[in-house]
Amino acid sequence: MAQTVLVTGGAGYIGAHACKVLKAAGFVPVTFDNLNTGWEEAVKYGPFFKGDLMNRADVDAAFAQYRPVAVLHFAALSLVGQSMKDPGKYWRVNVMGALNLIEGAIAAGCLNFVFSSTCATYGDQDGVLLDEETVQKPINSYGASKRAIEDMLVNFGESHGLNHVIFRYFNVAGCDPEGEIGEQHVPETHLIPLMLDAVAGKRPALTVFGSDYPTRDGTCLRDYVHVMDLVEAHVLGLDWLLAGKGNRVFNLGTGTGFTVREVIDHARAVTNREVPIVEGPRRAGDAVALVSGSLRAAAELGWEPKRSTLRQMIGDAWAWAQGPGYRG
Ligand code: UDP
Repeated sequence: MAQTVLVTGGAGYIGAHACKVLKAAGFVPVTFDNLNTGWEEAVKYGPFFKGDLMNRADVDAAFAQYRPVAVLHFAALSLVGQSMKDPGKYWRVNVMGALNLIEGAIAAGCLNFVFSSTCATYGDQDGVLLDEETVQKPINSYGASKRAIEDMLVNFGESHGLNHVIFRYFNVAGCDPEGEIGEQHVPETHLIPLMLDAVAGKRPALTVFGSDYPTRDGTCLRDYVHVMDLVEAHVLGLDWLLAGKGNRVFNLGTGTGFTVREVIDHARAVTNREVPIVEGPRRAGDAVALVSGSLRAAAELGWEPKRSTLRQMIGDAWAWAQGPGYRG
C-alpha cells in the first residue's frame, strides 16, 4: 500500500509542487494547510486536511486520521521584508507552529521530518559561497525564525529520536512546466512574478531594491533554483530518511549567482518585451549575496537540478502568468 506523508503548506507554491512529485513517486501526499496564503484549488494530488499549526488539536487530528510515515514541513511565513516590519508574527507563527507540529509528530510516533529552511539563515558573509558548514548569522527575522526551528529539530532529534533532513533553499522560482500549478502570492513580493506582471502591463514597473550594493552591477546577487528541481530533492530526502540514513542538512542551490539586473536581462530575452523598471532604495533585511557553494545534495542524495536555468525558470513562470490558473 502507498505510504502517506503529511505535507504542511501543501496548498502553497512549493508545497503544491512537492505534492505533485510525491504522488508521481508513489506516495499519498496529505495537504495540511490553513489556506491563509495557500489555495485549495492547488490541492490536486492527494487529500486535504484544513487545519492550523497553531492549534495542536488540528495537528493531532491529522496524524490520527492519516498515520503518515513522514512530515514535509513547508508551511511558514517567508517574506524577508514583512519579517523586518513584524518580527513577532514570524517568531509566533513559524516557531510555535513548528513546535506544535514536531511535538504532534513525536506523540503520533511519526519520526521522519523534512524541513524547509533557507539560505537566509546564513545572513551576509562578504560574498563567500555558502555551504552547510558556514556559520549561520541571519540578518532578518525570517532567517532567525528558521534557524530556531533547525535548532529545535536537533534538540528533538537528540531527546526523542526525531530523524530530520533540513533543506536550506536558495531562491525558488519557476513552476510546473505542465502548467497544472504555479506561483500565486497575495500580495506578491517576489522578483520574478512581479517583474513578469510589469512586463504584462499588470503593474506599472518593477522597483529594483537597491543599486549600490558591492556586486558587479550594484544589485543583489541570488542563486535561483527551479521549483521542480527543488521538490525533487525532497523526494530524495524522504527516501534518505526512510532508508534510515539519519540527520542531515543540505543546501539546495545551483552554485551560480545572478544579479537583479541580470534576471531582468533574461526576462527581456525570454519574453521579447521591455521590462519597465524604477530604481528604489534597499529593502530592509536583504543580504548582498546568497549563493550556494555546496555539492552535498548532488554527492549524497544524487540530486541533479535539470531545469534551473534562468531561461527555463522565467519561461515557465511567463507561461503560467499568461494561463487561466493565474490570478495576478
Ligand atoms: N527584488 C527587487 N524588487 C522586487 C522584489 C525583489 O529588486 O520588487 C530583489 C530583492 O531585493 C532580492 C531579489 O530581488 O535581492 C530576490 O528577492 P525575492 O523577494 O524574490 O526573494 P528573497 O531573496 O527575498 O527570498
